[in-house]
Amino acid sequence: MGRYIKINKPRESRKAVLVGKINCLNALKRLAVFGELSESIDKNFAEMNSELANIPNTVGDILKSFPVVEVKTIRLEESGSIKCSYCGKFFSTQKGLAMHIKRAHPIESAGKEQSSSELDQIESQIAALEQEVSSI
Ligand SMILES: [Zn+2]
Repeated sequence: MGRYIKINKPRESRKAVLVGKINCLNALKRLAVFGELSESIDKNFAEMNSELANIPNTVGDILKSFPVVEVKTIRLEESGSIKCSYCGKFFSTQKGLAMHIKRAHPIESAGKEQSSSELDQIESQIAALEQEVSSI
């Protein structure tokens, strides 16, 4: 003995079943897209990790390509120390330069050294202040 169920609005019911199917298929599609994305993320992480593992070797290569310079010979020139304007020698202090100028260049420096260096200092201060003002 069979049982039969009467469907009141067959057209609307059919439509509701189809909409449910579409929703399920959309969910499956999103799941597939997510799976592909997570695969590509895993692949990219693996590539990144292998590149990061190579960085120490790369840094070593870069360091090897730098020229080898003896530090003692360039120390004063590189540290922005004071240069004698007459002979080009470098001095670590202003006092050392002044003593050198008195001894090695007494004629050239007679009188003019002090005023010109002070002028240079004032001019550089003015230039710095003007830069500051123009940046405001
Ligand atoms: Zn000198």
